[in-house]
Amino acid sequence: MAEATYAKPLPAISSLSQPYWDGLRRHELCLQRCDGCATTWYPPAPLCPRCWSREFTWSRLSGRGRVNSWVVFHQAYFRGFEGEVPYNVAEVELDEGPRLLTNLVGVANADIRAGMPVEIVFEEATAEITLAKFRPRPA
Ligand SMILES: [Zn+2]
Repeated sequence: MAEATYAKPLPAISSLSQPYWDGLRRHELCLQRCDGCATTWYPPAPLCPRCWSREFTWSRLSGRGRVNSWVVFHQAYFRGFEGEVPYNVAEVELDEGPRLLTNLVGVANADIRAGMPVEIVFEEATAEITLAKFRPRPA
């Protein structure tokens, strides 16, 4: 769904988070995994939040998780969302542990449930930025 003009706010990419965004462009969900204790974390950080090691590897994740929490916005705070209210913003807990803020697609807002199993889908917002969204999957 790439568009010439994308009206919603876009993320600011830093050198630290660049591998995350590069992964999404390849349609892969990649996060940092500690070489010492195997913890995976998000958002990107220069060291492991569990053991403080600076040794980590960008690793491809399953792209699967469960809905932990969500809200439904009935007001558009940015013009780009005006055509989409009411829309959801969900916190998905990945099977590997980290939690991502995202949108759920392929499900009516009224049908969202806590613990609902979901899987990643990739939305190409612009030529440079692909966003991670999630849709329901069989349990
Ligand atoms: Zn660690």
